[in-house]
Amino acid sequence: MPSAPRVRFAPSPTGYLHIGGARTALMNYLQARRYGGTFILRMEDTDQVRSTPESVQAILDGLNWLGLEWDEGPGKEGPHAPYFQTQRLDTYREHADRLLAEGKAFRCYCTREELDAQRQVAEKAGGAFKYPGTCRELKAPPPGKRAEDAVIRFKMPSGDGSVSFDDKALGKITKPYSDLDDWVMLRADGIPLYNYGCVIDDHLMEITLVARGQEHVNSTFPQLMLYQALGWQPPEFAHLPLILGPDREKLSKRKHPEADVMLHKRNGIMPEALLNFVIRLGWSHGNDEVISREQMLQWFDFSDVGTTSGVWDPKKLLWLNQQW
Ligand code: GLU
Repeated sequence: MPSAPRVRFAPSPTGYLHIGGARTALMNYLQARRYGGTFILRMEDTDQVRSTPESVQAILDGLNWLGLEWDEGPGKEGPHAPYFQTQRLDTYREHADRLLAEGKAFRCYCTREELDAQRQVAEKAGGAFKYPGTCRELKAPPPGKRAEDAVIRFKMPSGDGSVSFDDKALGKITKPYSDLDDWVMLRADGIPLYNYGCVIDDHLMEITLVARGQEHVNSTFPQLMLYQALGWQPPEFAHLPLILGPDREKLSKRKHPEADVMLHKRNGIMPEALLNFVIRLGWSHGNDEVISREQMLQWFDFSDVGTTSGVWDPKKLLWLNQQW
């Protein structure tokens, strides 16, 4: 671990702050505070239908209630402002133009209908759909199409290479190039897709360790390919184990509305109890159950995060709340 890590919490403001987000934020916060680093809050507000100012506020309120103070981000700003992705579109465009000029990305003119039809054929044949490379080598727009209406795709290197990384929680993981395709980086309207915006921002914000939920582990491979294409050093990664709801289903905002952090505030749960509860989802310290913020700061490290899913047990939370 470098002496001063730069870590971040990068929620999509499409709903309340939920237990899983609170755990990601907490662990990143602890890492920054323990090692004298910086904790950055970045709003990945690129889903223009589902991102709302109310959700932004709900996330800020949740973090504030839990005392997870960020050093750079909304309301604090900092050297890498702005911290809302929709305010960084010029930056995304600039790097996409560079990749286009270097032949590491290309404009794709395929319509959604064409791609959907190809997807259906692939799925009927029992395979997974991969972009077939239709526009990879085009030098100019096809007749009747305009460059400004095209999406920009990453050009996956061909050949039989593979991409690997050493995850702090999961260990070494590898994927062959053949599992990846020419993914979309930028939409025609300039809005970045998740993998693209994430890499550009993590690099420019000088993030040294990316810690996020395990549902993002497969995104790390295309992201690493992009770091390579841009000639940038990737950060370290830690993918946190899944959290299952009381029904043993993966915890989701939609299926488990009771996972709303602020609902717990309204129900009389103390912030210390909730922090204690979430830190124990996928991390432990001996047999200790009741763990204070000071102890978390002394004990928590990503290298001790396990791979076993954490199960959200509301009774445990109530028990912990009585201990505080
Ligand atoms: N915006 C993504 C999410 O909320 C962030 C994933 C990441 O941390 O890279 O799931």
